Amino acid sequence: MSIKLYNTLTRQKEEFEPVEAGKVKMYVCGPTVYNYIHIGNARPYIAFDAVRRYLEYRGYDVDYVQNFTDVDDKIIQYANEVGKTTDEVVEHYIAETLKDADGLNVKRATVHPRVTEEMDSIIEMVEILVDKGYAYEVNGSVYFDTMEWENYGSLSKKIIEELEMGSRIKVDDEKKNPMDFILWKPKKEGEPAWDSPWGQGRPGWHIECSAMSRKYLGDTIDIHAGGEDLVFPHHENEVAQSEAATGKPFSKYWMHNSFLNMDNRKMSKSLGNFFTLREVAEEFGYDVVRFFMLNAHYRSPVSFSRELMESAKSSLERLKNCKANLEFFIKNNKETPLSDKERDLLKELPQFEDNFNKSMEDDFNTADAISSIFEMVSWINTNLTDSSSIEFTNKVYQEFIKLCDILGIFYDAPEKEGQEGISDEQVEALIEKRNAAKKEKDFVTADAVRDQLMEAGIAIEDTRQGVRWKRL
Ligand code: AMP
Ligand code: ZN
Repeated sequence: MSIKLYNTLTRQKEEFEPVEAGKVKMYVCGPTVYNYIHIGNARPYIAFDAVRRYLEYRGYDVDYVQNFTDVDDKIIQYANEVGKTTDEVVEHYIAETLKDADGLNVKRATVHPRVTEEMDSIIEMVEILVDKGYAYEVNGSVYFDTMEWENYGSLSKKIIEELEMGSRIKVDDEKKNPMDFILWKPKKEGEPAWDSPWGQGRPGWHIECSAMSRKYLGDTIDIHAGGEDLVFPHHENEVAQSEAATGKPFSKYWMHNSFLNMDNRKMSKSLGNFFTLREVAEEFGYDVVRFFMLNAHYRSPVSFSRELMESAKSSLERLKNCKANLEFFIKNNKETPLSDKERDLLKELPQFEDNFNKSMEDDFNTADAISSIFEMVSWINTNLTDSSSIEFTNKVYQEFIKLCDILGIFYDAPEKEGQEGISDEQVEALIEKRNAAKKEKDFVTADAVRDQLMEAGIAIEDTRQGVRWKRL
């Protein structure tokens, strides 16, 4: 079956057919780096990482570009407030943002371009727009002329008159039309600036994505993505700039994630109703944050609450337990041949992947795909016993891990502060020590080792096949 995705451009689900067979060119708007990201910002990271991973599982070669906005009014203002250079601020927060994204098991982009390193392509695109008559210069500022671009409004489905009526943008003497937007800003004292045909200055926000997308992925791409607040004006303006400059369609599909809300409002820095990803991950773990987000379809709003995080945590725990059980049986079960019953049971196995695929093919419905994984867990719990053959257990394990890996569910999430330290090897060594003590009937030592493990957050259980352990 083919993949269907909801295209903001046409407001309907469409069959996914990339421009070039087998290849996907994908651009996801990245953050402005002057702060730790909040968990609302983590949503597009996780949602589009899942899209990418699924496309890769389906055999597509995905080129994934995600920018860093490293020059911006907010960065300059913040740097002034804290008495640092903008370079210091952006270097620090790019590193911290990547640390967060790694913590969420988000695959690194093929390229992470930064605005300050891409001035040539940005200036070149502005020049093309000026030459073609889609942009004009006034006193060192360059604006996009929305009246010249007749398709303006094609993505957000707004008509210019409506926009003007509703617009609270103050009428700027320099602009021909209130909806015109800035491509190049003249230098202000004390701000970073670059040479350009219009004097020293820096680019406006929207042009960077058009220029970087074009440089790294070409004139026409397959998927352009971001949060739904970017549809207008950011993405509308990107379409206008790119299509006016190249004369070609910019992106075949547009995908937008819905908001993560808190107290019924979009979580946002400016409203103050936010938690940084760092603090939430500190409390629950990065892998729980990832799992929490994947439990909702990316176009459904999600409410953030501690209760829902707790519930995501215990659901994830069920998957981890299933994995640990399978691993334990693989390690400890006897080499018995596959039984006839197991042979029949294995015929039931593909249904879970089929159901998983049906959900993912339907506009990347990760929530339903996770339900298929839980159906598989129930099936495993019913059919796996301590006399199951290793062949059976292995096949089931591989299938289970395959589905979980498509969504990037299992990984070594960074440890919470204070829980670093005890490695799997150390746990195994302590268990060996306890076994030896028990053999010697030295129960004092055996109990002391058990307590030591408990303190390190490791629970152990004595079973017929030996000692089992898990992290709490
Ligand atoms: P910003 O730093 O506001 O430009 O946001 C970076 C990315 O996070 C963009 O794709 C936004 O659309 C997205 N975003 C911001 N706030 C939220 C939220 N509360 N829920 C989901 N996505 C968000
Ligand atoms: Zn963008």
